[in-house]
Amino acid sequence: MALLTIDIAKIEHNASLICREAAKADVSIYGVTKVLCGIPDVARAMLRGGVKAIADSRSENIATMRKADIPGPFVLLRLPNRSLARQVVTLSDMSLNSEYATCVSLSEAATAHGVTHGIILMVDLGDLREGVWPNAFMSLVKSVCSLPSLEIRGIGTNLTCYGGIVPDKDNLGVLHQLALEASTYVGYKLEVSGGNSSTLPLLFQKQIPKGITNLRVGEGIVLGRETVNRSPLPGAYTDACLISAEIIELKEKPSVPLGTVGQDAFGNVPLFVDRGWRKRAILSLGRQDTVPEGLVPLLSGVDVIGASSDHLLMDITDCTQLAVGDIMTFGLSYGALLAAATSPYVEKRLV
Ligand SMILES: *Cc1c(COP(=O)(O)O)cnc(C)c1O
Repeated sequence: MALLTIDIAKIEHNASLICREAAKADVSIYGVTKVLCGIPDVARAMLRGGVKAIADSRSENIATMRKADIPGPFVLLRLPNRSLARQVVTLSDMSLNSEYATCVSLSEAATAHGVTHGIILMVDLGDLREGVWPNAFMSLVKSVCSLPSLEIRGIGTNLTCYGGIVPDKDNLGVLHQLALEASTYVGYKLEVSGGNSSTLPLLFQKQIPKGITNLRVGEGIVLGRETVNRSPLPGAYTDACLISAEIIELKEKPSVPLGTVGQDAFGNVPLFVDRGWRKRAILSLGRQDTVPEGLVPLLSGVDVIGASSDHLLMDITDCTQLAVGDIMTFGLSYGALLAAATSPYVEKRLV
């Protein structure tokens, strides 16, 4: 079975490093647990590292963490389903929102439960995932403000997710301006949540625009890197999460298949470069476990050359010491980690 190891001490170190850098700029950090499916010990490590709240995109993960007595507070990142408003207000203290109709449902559910639910209103600054367009923002603030049992806590934006748009002083400046206007309207200072791990370069270069008071950080803490160029954060561990699997075949074979080429297992017609006979290893790791394209071997001189559902093919010609039964270990891209954490075939081990 493939094994995902998660080094809790490294995650705590990364959280603490980012929180200390953020504190210098009066920015708080929400620790985002969704890439590791809300594993409670990961949330605990983030809280020890100084995050102000735990944020996750799935209520199921928040429920898991609550059951494990994680104190929270909890922020639901994905826009709530209207139909699940009751679940949202009972499990999370705050949620990100862009729809008035959903806020009406949250308000009704919160009233019925006798709780106040916090709302962060999302603005789309051009990345084209969630959020209200800036010119419609104030009217959303005004209508949500009048709903009982809800409290607008902040304004937020999400960048570098769909459109790949990089946070800068222009788009975050728009966020700040809208925050000022909304704060004046509601009569208190709103949290200004200026994005995810793609805003970390601005933070570490001490160029975070004025007025930003919060970031929601997952990849930065878990994988130790920012997400504009995927550069490591200075002083952070990038190897807190590793995946490993066993070699189940090791043979010399030609680099070009024999016979007529049709479709591969996934409907693609593969192309090959003739590099002569090569030493190849097959690992018991495939698309049901992870995203093979996102694997980075720790050993040098080996290459991932392909994968099917259950097999990872490696060229290990330049690496002599390997044998059948040996374990190979890889770093992971965000997508590869997400898939591994989600796959029931991958054992998760905290170290
Ligand atoms: C996933 C998510 C984040 C965290 O993103 P990272 O790039 O992992 O830091 C922040 N905000 C929202 C709305 C998200 O969905």
